[in-house]
Amino acid sequence: MRLNACELEIDLMCRGLRLPRDVSLGGARAVSRTRAGLGSGLELVVPTGSRLKPYIWVNAPVVETFAAASPYRLARADGYCVVDDRDGAEYPVTLPRSPSWYSRLTSNDVAMNQIGVLQGTYLGIYVNPVCAFWSMEPKLNCRFCTTGQNVGANEARVKTVSDVVETCRAAKEESGITFVHLNGGFQGERGLEFIKPFVQAIKERVGLLVGVQLAPERNFKRYDALVALGVDHLSLCVELLDAQWFAKICPGKARVHGQSLYLAALQYCARLLPPGAVAGEVIAGIEPTEHTLKAIDRIVELGAFPTVCIFRPTIGSDMADWAPPEYTEMRRVMAHMYEACRRRWLPIGVAPNIEVSIVVTPDDAALLAERSARFYWYEGYRRLARFAASPTFRRRMRAA
Ligand code: SF4
Repeated sequence: MRLNACELEIDLMCRGLRLPRDVSLGGARAVSRTRAGLGSGLELVVPTGSRLKPYIWVNAPVVETFAAASPYRLARADGYCVVDDRDGAEYPVTLPRSPSWYSRLTSNDVAMNQIGVLQGTYLGIYVNPVCAFWSMEPKLNCRFCTTGQNVGANEARVKTVSDVVETCRAAKEESGITFVHLNGGFQGERGLEFIKPFVQAIKERVGLLVGVQLAPERNFKRYDALVALGVDHLSLCVELLDAQWFAKICPGKARVHGQSLYLAALQYCARLLPPGAVAGEVIAGIEPTEHTLKAIDRIVELGAFPTVCIFRPTIGSDMADWAPPEYTEMRRVMAHMYEACRRRWLPIGVAPNIEVSIVVTPDDAALLAERSARFYWYEGYRRLARFAASPTFRRRMRAA
């Protein structure tokens, strides 16, 4: 059965993609094991055939063990396509090229792809020191994460404000990015303070939309300070809803923060920023699906929008030998995510040119929804919201 572009995105994330040796990748973006490790696949752009969302960006797993048994393989004739060997279906794709600024050096002599990488059409930068859960004894890192192996190995251990500003500027001028996502794991009560000069410098000297993702801190007033500096997006990684699964998979978060702190911080941030600007991140495919659906509903009730990662048993992680999730379950989760956003009239996908390859975004999941009157009302509302918000975004992307 032929899949639509979002279904293909989900199935590729669950099954992976084989790369035959005789298929040259040309100048495609290289597999990059940075940040938590989710960008470890091949970046693809899949046309949707829909005016609502012309393209979907996918980071398809290619190096993890399960990808070797995938029914999907990359093929090349006139252009690239993904072939499903179960039924011979062919899906045309393009492979975004590696930008020339990746190999350029910052004024501190650091290659810019050691500072940040494109994950879709936005720039992702891990700015803080290595997440403290990795240096505890015993280690309390989240079991799916590889940040502790990547920072200082596949990416620079120390990123100065000038390294980050220069990389952001190159990505804006040459790759047309509009958004940079800064993250940094757990840093005690210093994380938000540490990230402030980066936010300020990017806003003033480059002019981009800036997102921040860090472990929650108990002094919520620190989020006010970030917003005052011009931060455009805040996200918190709730990960799992069931308390036992949370403690098992995220031992540091469970022991140091407790799950309720994530939800309280999320609610606080959702009141600080406009609707659609705050996200709660969950990881699907580890705990039973019913918990993931409840997590999505909870995040939406708190006024945030859900970002759902499909669990990837990344090489080097403590969960590398776990099985990836089933397509049918993940399709169900993503359809639920879109419906939850629609029920709350969340203005998803409103910011300009932000395509995320490492997760199925709520607006990707519009392709899964039943075409009812409610669907068209909501899609019409999203278009209006995008149109109405464009002057605000233009203003917020102006350097000082
Ligand atoms: S908080 Fe967990 S997921 Fe985030 S960097 Fe630390 S170990 Fe990784």
